[in-house]
Amino acid sequence: MADRIGETDEPQLAAAALRTPQEVRPRPSTARPYEELIIERWRNAVRYGGPDAADRRREHMLYAAIKQGGALLAVVWAVMMPTGWVEWSGFAFFYVLNILAMSIGYHRYFTHKAFETSTPMRYALAILAQMGVYGSLKRWCMDHRRHHALSDKPGDIHSPFVDDYGRPLSGLKGIKHAHLGWAYGEAMTNPDLYGKGIVGDPVIEWAHKTRYLWFAVGLVVAPGLWGLALGGPQAVAGTIMIAGFLRMALALHAIAAVNSFGHRYGYQNFKNLDEARNNLFLGYITLGEGWHNNHHAHARAASTGLRWWEVDMSMWVIVTLEKLGLVWNVQRPNLEAQPRQRKLPAKG
Ligand SMILES: [Zn+2]
Ligand SMILES: [Zn+2]
Repeated sequence: MADRIGETDEPQLAAAALRTPQEVRPRPSTARPYEELIIERWRNAVRYGGPDAADRRREHMLYAAIKQGGALLAVVWAVMMPTGWVEWSGFAFFYVLNILAMSIGYHRYFTHKAFETSTPMRYALAILAQMGVYGSLKRWCMDHRRHHALSDKPGDIHSPFVDDYGRPLSGLKGIKHAHLGWAYGEAMTNPDLYGKGIVGDPVIEWAHKTRYLWFAVGLVVAPGLWGLALGGPQAVAGTIMIAGFLRMALALHAIAAVNSFGHRYGYQNFKNLDEARNNLFLGYITLGEGWHNNHHAHARAASTGLRWWEVDMSMWVIVTLEKLGLVWNVQRPNLEAQPRQRKLPAKG
């Protein structure tokens, strides 16, 4: 991280410091210093405060209270009450569905456009994504594009190495910020820069407006119906606890861990990109999302696994959907091409 910037307390100070002639290290191919350009890009990438930040904070506080509080109750329930195959099969089913919805829906389709599909499928993916509950699909897509554009640099929305103001982070503080702490801050993604094809998209806008409904369906209604269908009325409450609250909390933390632990611990097939890692544990529990270094190197690709042990179950589902004719133009990683290198941002 030799060219890390923002190592003073305030980004403005960092910017000013970098502009002093002795500190500036212009690269041969650019008229202006790299650091100056990236600060410009970072400032343009982020909008601080405003009603949208307050709304996001409220939303995530509500989710956190329901999920963490509910998960605690669910653990107590699992200890105190008899649970069986109905509750735990529901847990497994909805966990897989939840992770796939985040992996294929939020991430690979709506953010990276790793394949194309029909309008009904877009609605289905949007509903499943919002049932997965990682906040608004619309915000998530823009945020994630910012993450890739400024990965582990000032302006990255959730890096364990820099905070919302470009100041360096480390240790537990960094993990906390990258995991879910970012959702409670003031730094919002500039939609003018990262919202192309997202803001105004009818399906994404509709999902944003109706997201609380899908949250309730994913958390309570669907697990409740599973319990009712397979175990009768007496299994409904327990299935909501185990397959609803407990499952949702674990799935969310598994995916959030890709942003926190997945940028700190693991190995890299592609060096010198950023700090993203392939993490064996995360790779398996997130059904492929944890091969995060591969993903950062080939972000448009629908698949993340490259080595034999890098099993990408999300891609299995995408390939199945492709064979059924439900999705097409599936992007594969072009391994002949050089992976994305850190490059100068376009002038903002
Ligand atoms: Zn990442
Ligand atoms: Zn991505």
